[in-house]
Amino acid sequence: MAFRRKPRGTIKIDFSAAVELTQLKQVSPVTIKDLTHYVKISNSRIKKWNSCKRAHHYAFNEKLEKKSPPSSLYKGKIIHECIEDMIYGRDWRPTLQKYIDEYNKMFEEEKEQYGNLPEDLTTILEGYERMYKDDGLTYLEANGKKAEHDFAIEIGQEPCLVCRGSGEVTAGAVCNVCKGEGCSYCNDLGQVSEGGTCSYCGGEGTRGIALVGKIDAVAQDRNGRVWLVEHKSFKKLPDEDFRWTNQQATIYAWVMPQIGFPKPDGVMWDYIRTKAPTKPELLKSGALSKRKNIDTTYETYLKTIEEHGLDPADYEDILENLKGNEHNFYRRIYLPIRENIIEPVIRDVINTAKEIYYLGELLKTRNLGKDCKICPFKQLCQVEIMGGDVEFIKKTQYRPSTYHVNVEEGEHVDEEE
Ligand code: SF4
Ligand SMILES: [Zn+2]
Ligand SMILES: [Zn+2]
Repeated sequence: MAFRRKPRGTIKIDFSAAVELTQLKQVSPVTIKDLTHYVKISNSRIKKWNSCKRAHHYAFNEKLEKKSPPSSLYKGKIIHECIEDMIYGRDWRPTLQKYIDEYNKMFEEEKEQYGNLPEDLTTILEGYERMYKDDGLTYLEANGKKAEHDFAIEIGQEPCLVCRGSGEVTAGAVCNVCKGEGCSYCNDLGQVSEGGTCSYCGGEGTRGIALVGKIDAVAQDRNGRVWLVEHKSFKKLPDEDFRWTNQQATIYAWVMPQIGFPKPDGVMWDYIRTKAPTKPELLKSGALSKRKNIDTTYETYLKTIEEHGLDPADYEDILENLKGNEHNFYRRIYLPIRENIIEPVIRDVINTAKEIYYLGELLKTRNLGKDCKICPFKQLCQVEIMGGDVEFIKKTQYRPSTYHVNVEEGEHVDEEE
């Protein structure tokens, strides 16, 4: 038995143009201001798409996020905002205070998952400020900004899938994207609710694909070298492998000259741990613990000695040992960017963006595996597989994603559970 699909008008997916686009001399990608009719693709969207189509569907079609973000994500966001203040030479304490006020309004159970957030973040940020106060970096400006440089670059123009290139839609017609199954274009109705000019392409018949993102900062060091700066917060500092495979840095290096910056010499990863240095325990004897494996810094240890009115002279040995330990909490890694990796990476990015453009609404395939453990959608995904009350889980544990208000939210924080 053979099934034959009714022809509904075909669209040829052309991946060859991607090659041209990466050859900057031939085609210069366009920086765009108005994103209304664009499909927006960010590095994190590409990452989700490649790791699990189902997770991509929840995050980008259903636009859901967890109601209470994991502790490291929430702390990372605050740290990020405070560092932005430092880059502008502003006092970061009012920003932190804003979050402390928010924290103080939380229920006890909620507070518990964030630990002692006010004290921990104060310690982390003071340590950061002390560590880098004379780092010799000058932050470069673009469009009057020294940090958080948003960009949107057109990397493709494809036929509009909703109106199939005609620019017009007919009310009541079957949705062209999902063929009636329901998707985010037709609000799950499976059909077009209003006719007339296609609102997805604005009647153009084609839609652009925009590569969007936000560059944390660009800094110049004392030797005149220019660095793409990426602040990353982690519970634990990451290992070496994390870096050379970093697609985001390569994308941003490609974007920089297009939005008014010089070509970068490399990328500077500014790692910050979201876990505060541990305060030494007070023993029954009234002295502080000197255990060797204590995960702390000189400053925190010394501060605890003073808080208890003890004599630093009694702790010289351990204090001596702790010198330099800040590197377990703050670390800057400089890595040159090799020109020749840009082209293949951007080519893959553009091809993946096209895949998402054409298939992003349709493929919801699960990739059950080790990534599920840290997937924010695992509760929802599990209930869908097991056949539970999906709507209930969605209502109680998820909310509309703020990512879609602020496109790049979440990009600067990597989670390590
Ligand atoms: S739990 Fe696993 S399969 Fe389900 S959405 Fe997350 S990563 Fe995908
Ligand atoms: Zn259209
Ligand atoms: Zn649809």
